[in-house]
Amino acid sequence: MDTAPADGPLVDAFGRVARDLRISVTDRCNFRCTYCMPAEGLTWLPKEELLTFEELARLLAIFVRLGIRSVKITGGEPTVRADLPTLVRMFRAVGPDLDLSLTTNGVLLDRLAAPLAEAGLDRVTVSCDSLLRHRFAAMTRRDALDRVLAGLRAAEAAGLRPVKINCVVIGGTNDDELLDFARWSRETGYEVRFIEYMPLDAERRWRPERIVPSARILEAIGAAYPLVAVSGSSEPATTYAFADGAPGRIGVIASVTEPFCDRCDRLRLTAEGCLRTCLFALEETDLRGPLRAGASDEELVAILRDATRAKWAGHRIGREDFVRPGRSMSMIGG
Ligand code: SAM
Ligand code: SF4
Repeated sequence: MDTAPADGPLVDAFGRVARDLRISVTDRCNFRCTYCMPAEGLTWLPKEELLTFEELARLLAIFVRLGIRSVKITGGEPTVRADLPTLVRMFRAVGPDLDLSLTTNGVLLDRLAAPLAEAGLDRVTVSCDSLLRHRFAAMTRRDALDRVLAGLRAAEAAGLRPVKINCVVIGGTNDDELLDFARWSRETGYEVRFIEYMPLDAERRWRPERIVPSARILEAIGAAYPLVAVSGSSEPATTYAFADGAPGRIGVIASVTEPFCDRCDRLRLTAEGCLRTCLFALEETDLRGPLRAGASDEELVAILRDATRAKWAGHRIGREDFVRPGRSMSMIGG
């Protein structure tokens, strides 16, 4: 029978070893980005359904034992979870050597960056899809660009570096700003990572023709500012430096046009404690039930091994048999 190995790291049936864990700490958000959430109408999880800090720390200790080296705290918007620095402190105690980062819309970083850094966070990735105030407001449904920029300055001042920026590029919406983002990267030293639009928006407006392929993004930026590939760049982004030595980096995450599924080392934990082995997974494994029913660490390890083992080869976007997952991005934890 095809069973999961009894010891060693978490490995799937294709030999991919899980090293990176995305932990969603809430499904709530203070933005309503058009490519992610509806303007209104999402029902939040009741508080008792969220994993508690103690449950999260216990699970993390098990994941670390099983070879997870890098943890990204996400959501929803992770900074709306009350007392996030306390959770960061607990995670740091569990994994002193973990690469511990946060993906955030940045709007609360002006007051949270310093306490998060002090609690042991290593760095942040801040989402920013436009440098134009009105467009930013239209895309996020919040007029908050200035506050996000202030959050970025606070993150830098707190030492949460290198700062990375996630920018979802949508054809006909913000793809005329590629060079502005490149200039911004050169001025600030931020690594701007362009993400291809994925079919995970709650309103189901995604259409393949709205994807701007990463190759086209690199071509446009490279024509103005020649780029050189940075070796050993961390997946899933392919990263480039400016050939003239200017600070900053450009990254592309070509999830749709050049999937990196065969090298994927990622697992995801949803806010209510389900393990997902892929963003686009159609099945997930409940960990909260066993946790709250008193499962031992060894029982949880066995569940994690079996779930990881069952990870599929890759997503099927663009194929006839592609089925969108029932959850949208903010409910999965991007
Ligand atoms: N709220 C935080 C934020 O916005 O950074 C963390 C959660 S958010 C779901 C994580 C990342 O997913 C963000 O960088 C966001 O831009 C990206 N994202 C959301 N919906 C997406 C979509 N349909 N396609 C591609 N990326 C998406
Ligand atoms: Fe909120 Fe992040 Fe989704 Fe925007 S992308 S709605 S900030 S969870």
